[in-house]
Amino acid sequence: MLDASPFAPPATAPLQPLDLSWARDAGVELAMLRLDSIDPQLSGNKWYKLAPCLAACSAQPDGTIPATGLISLGGPHSNHLHALAAAGQRFGLATVGLLRGEPCQTPTVVDLQQAGMTLHWLGYGGYRARHQPGFWAPWQALYPGFVCIEEGGCSLAAAESCARLVGGLRGQLGDLGWDDYTALWLAAGTGTTLAGLVIGEAGAHPVYGALAGPLAHGVGRAVAALLEQAGRLDAGYCLIEAARGGFGRIDETLLAFMADTEAETGVPLDPVYTAKALLALRLAIAAGRFTPGSRIIVVHTGGLQGRRTLPERAS
Ligand SMILES: *Cc1c(COP(=O)(O)O)cnc(C)c1O
Repeated sequence: MLDASPFAPPATAPLQPLDLSWARDAGVELAMLRLDSIDPQLSGNKWYKLAPCLAACSAQPDGTIPATGLISLGGPHSNHLHALAAAGQRFGLATVGLLRGEPCQTPTVVDLQQAGMTLHWLGYGGYRARHQPGFWAPWQALYPGFVCIEEGGCSLAAAESCARLVGGLRGQLGDLGWDDYTALWLAAGTGTTLAGLVIGEAGAHPVYGALAGPLAHGVGRAVAALLEQAGRLDAGYCLIEAARGGFGRIDETLLAFMADTEAETGVPLDPVYTAKALLALRLAIAAGRFTPGSRIIVVHTGGLQGRRTLPERAS
């Protein structure tokens, strides 16, 4: 069982009221599940997504030999690789990162190195080959016994690990004085975390995924495929366009909104995922998607390590 893994994330994260004037004025109550606050290094949704792969490195109940390390891929600002490297360091597991592009030193890359992750730079062409059959074979030969984790950590096991968050947040509703809620709202990249929450909700409440990238990138298909594998109906969720021109694109309106929201709530955000998700929520509320009296739980998926390069990336 996942819960028995010595490398499992906390069962839940703090659920806090979120007071934002634009929601209050519309009669909508907000709360936030602070996955960003579960741990200083292993922050956000990534630890939940990685948990099944980490568990494969611990003693196996059936006596099979545990995996000897973990290997995955991402860009030079990747929250996923950052969490993987931090988990490897924390739990004494070997990690390998395959990076997109040519060697460069970002704050994220420096952290990966300091956490002891072995890095290989694939260039852009080499990175594009990541979905081709046989991509992993040479890496498996180089690092025998390692678990190979797809880009973004997208898998059914990862989604099912995130599904546990629903029970954890429901257990805290009383602290807010809420007996129920209307919907969940979160940022979506691969859609794995979204699919997990849909599985956890089992149709009880709709889950809204604010897309950090274009819809054309196949998130809808990926989420539908995960839910089908999980044996769930392809229902109970809604994808919202929130990318504002593309994945990682940062504009002045977004930065101003992010600064205002941080000032009003004291909650730090990142521009790639969480600020875009909240801005999309404001637009949805302004468009009347939620009636007065609605209670929405926003899942803060973390990503704060990525905001260290904010000034140079905002252009
Ligand atoms: C990775 C990430 C996401 C996207 O998670 P998916 O499960 O891929 O949809 C959302 N928010 C933050 C901050 C992330 O780092």
